[in-house]
Amino acid sequence: METETERGSAVKPGESRRNVVVIHHALVQHKLGLMRRKDTSTSQFRTLLAEISMLLAYEVTRDLPTHEVAVETPLAPTTIRLLDGKKIVLVSILRAGNGLLDGMLRILPSARVGHVGLYRDPKTLEAVEYYFKLPHEMDERDVVVLDPMLATGNSAIAAVSRVKALQPRSIRFVCLLTCPEGLDSFHRVHPDVPVYTAAVDSHLNEHGYIIPGLGDAGDRLFGTK
Ligand code: URA
Repeated sequence: METETERGSAVKPGESRRNVVVIHHALVQHKLGLMRRKDTSTSQFRTLLAEISMLLAYEVTRDLPTHEVAVETPLAPTTIRLLDGKKIVLVSILRAGNGLLDGMLRILPSARVGHVGLYRDPKTLEAVEYYFKLPHEMDERDVVVLDPMLATGNSAIAAVSRVKALQPRSIRFVCLLTCPEGLDSFHRVHPDVPVYTAAVDSHLNEHGYIIPGLGDAGDRLFGTK
C-alpha cells in the first residue's frame, strides 16, 4: 500500500505517515476543489460528493481479497475472480457519512449498511453516541467506515472502536478531507486502520474545523445553514 509521502501530498518535508492513502486522482482533486468553494450550491455539493465517493470506493476496495471460481463464457470454460467472504459493510457516521454512502452503494450495490450516530459536544468536541446499528456476522466481513471530515478524530475513533469490538475481518476508514491533528489522534488509537482521503489540509482551528477545508460538511450537504 502506498503511503501519503510516496504519493507526494501535503505532508511537511521529512514527515512520513503510515497507513494513510491520499487519492491524488485528477478527477478527485477537481471535484474536491469545486466542493471547497463557498459559492458551490447545496445541490452541486451533494452531486460532487456522490461522484467523488464512487472514485474513493474504487480505491478503498482495490486490495480486497478475491478467490477463483470456475465459470463458462458463451465460448469456453474459464476462471473468474470474485470478492471473498460475506458482503462488505459500509458504516456511515451520521449524518455527513450518508453523503459518501450514496455513491459507494452505486459501486457496491449489495453492500450491507451500518449506521453510527455521534454528535460533537460543542464545548468538549468529544463524540457522544446516540445510535448504533450494524449487520450480524461481522467476523466474516470487511468494513469501510465513512465520514467526509476526519477533523479532531473523536467521532472516527469512537465509531471505529465500536466497530472493532465486533471483530470484523478488516476495517478501513474513508474521508474526503483530514488534517495532521486528526490523523495523529486517529492513528494513536487505531494505528492498524488505514485512512483513505482526498487531501490532508493544513490544520485544525480552535473550533475543530479543518483549514482551509470546506466548512461544515453536514450543513453543506443537507442545506441546513
Ligand atoms: N466537520 C466538518 O463538517 N467540517 C470540519 O471542518 C470539521 C468537522
